Amino acid sequence: MSLALTLVLAGCGSSGDGGGAASEAVASEASSPLDIVGSFYPLVFVAEQVGGEHVAVDNLTPPGAETHDLELTPLDVVSLLDADLIVYLAGFAPALDEAIRGAVAEQVFDVTSSASLDLEGEDHEGEEPESEHHDEDDHGGVDPHFWLDPIRLADVADATAARLAEIDPENAESFLQNAAALRFQFDELDNEFQQGLAECARLDLVTSHRSFGYLANRYGLNQAGIAGLSPEQEPSAAQLANVSDLVRAEQVLVIYYEKLVDPGVAQTIADETGATTDVLDPLETLSETASGLDYFQVMRSNLAALRRGLDCS
Ligand SMILES: [Zn+2]
Repeated sequence: MSLALTLVLAGCGSSGDGGGAASEAVASEASSPLDIVGSFYPLVFVAEQVGGEHVAVDNLTPPGAETHDLELTPLDVVSLLDADLIVYLAGFAPALDEAIRGAVAEQVFDVTSSASLDLEGEDHEGEEPESEHHDEDDHGGVDPHFWLDPIRLADVADATAARLAEIDPENAESFLQNAAALRFQFDELDNEFQQGLAECARLDLVTSHRSFGYLANRYGLNQAGIAGLSPEQEPSAAQLANVSDLVRAEQVLVIYYEKLVDPGVAQTIADETGATTDVLDPLETLSETASGLDYFQVMRSNLAALRRGLDCS
């Protein structure tokens, strides 16, 4: 964090390319950590865990900021283009895709292929899209939210370790060992989800923001999102009616919303149908309530919320 800040200030003060050259010289010294920029929390978490003491990771999305609509200041872009490696998900945040055009290929690590994005967005349940944000926010119709499936995030951690090993071969063994240890923890979490959600009276997962597709897929739940893949999308009257019908028909107990989004819509549906509301954290950023926690802690709190809302034994 402090290294990244130093680089930003260096880049700012020299008002030119000097900052970039200086930071590369620093990073090439064996004792200096690699300067990594992660585009949002799960990628930052994985880079920190896998890189350990050999990396300094900066998070491009500040706590509480909205990841899909990430905005970058000129200083952010300077810092970004100074990094030894930018870990990001192409197509997720348009402003970042734009900024990355200024980076060289060796600096950029797109996790798309290691994340195995293979879920359709289906963000409008077959309806014609009404939101003007549709095209830019939904990753071309593919659901981007892979990190809520711990096994997919473990795959991304392995790929991140392999990439770090290429950049810094001296520490390759450390990166690969860290990734193996991390995979063990992801496997443990996966086991807890498998067992915790094995016997539930309800299988319909109704959420305000359609973030939980990969999680639902892995653990045998049906995701029904009120809005689309991006929390910015306002649900149409028809979508609201569809969700209310589903909630009544399937006797859904809990409508889940996320801290960063106005719970009004979830509350409206809950009031209309007799359901209650609860929070699920999509972990795109660490929310204020989650500050000081890490991926595993927030996921375990999500599991507890799911077990309550889906009436699991
Ligand atoms: Zn999202």
